[in-house]
Amino acid sequence: MKQDFTIKQNIPWFKTDYQKKRNWTVRKSPHYVFHYSKNSLAEKDIKKIITVQEQSYKKILRTLKLKDKRKINYYLYSSRKNKQNLMGDDGHGNAIWLEIKKRKVWVPKKFEVHSLYNNKIQCIGPHEDTHLLSLPLGVSIFLFSEGLAEFMDERWYGKDIDIWAKKYLKENKLYPIEFLVENKNWDKVNDMIAYPQVGSFVRFLINTYGIEKFKKVYRRTSRQKILKENIEIIEIIYPRPIEKLEKIWREYLRHKNRN
Ligand SMILES: [Zn+2]
Repeated sequence: MKQDFTIKQNIPWFKTDYQKKRNWTVRKSPHYVFHYSKNSLAEKDIKKIITVQEQSYKKILRTLKLKDKRKINYYLYSSRKNKQNLMGDDGHGNAIWLEIKKRKVWVPKKFEVHSLYNNKIQCIGPHEDTHLLSLPLGVSIFLFSEGLAEFMDERWYGKDIDIWAKKYLKENKLYPIEFLVENKNWDKVNDMIAYPQVGSFVRFLINTYGIEKFKKVYRRTSRQKILKENIEIIEIIYPRPIEKLEKIWREYLRHKNRN
């Protein structure tokens, strides 16, 4: 059922001082407006960054069978401190949409990515852009939204997400999928395990049962729903108990060749 609703992005730390900074160097490409500082590594690498992001944009839309042409405002920071001072968070990357309203079309008030880009960390690629370009499907639970973003990235710290998941499977460190359906539990998880795990699980769902089923489950599960409702939705769409789905995924990992 279609409904009119607003989802506020819960980011109390968010600051907009980056908008006051006057000396951004601005470079446009078909789907992006890049902002970076003069003499930064981002400036030196801007051609490569444009290629990576334009390819990511196309890949995300192609995979999700969605259309979009909105430009993403992409901010590249050369240090954590600088990023924190200007936008409020010192993490590697953030997607900012702030608020989306669904009437006939989706209208995010912002459509921005903020990334760290220096000699140590180059946070580019599809992850954050996936959070923005998937907004027409709604805002799903972390299991699916972070899983989809990692599925698009394919790699986590240089290695394929399935390689990580397989390693954690052997070490008995994977979280139960049901535990990851509950968003509150994400405060307690180790990101090094949870991110590649959900990426691998989403890849398994999409490759095994198809993108349309995944889009359906993504649209219907929600951060506003309680755990029981979200589990029910998953079990109706993939029709099997979540433990069974998890077991098939673990089997798929066990038999996956190293590559
Ligand atoms: Zn993310």
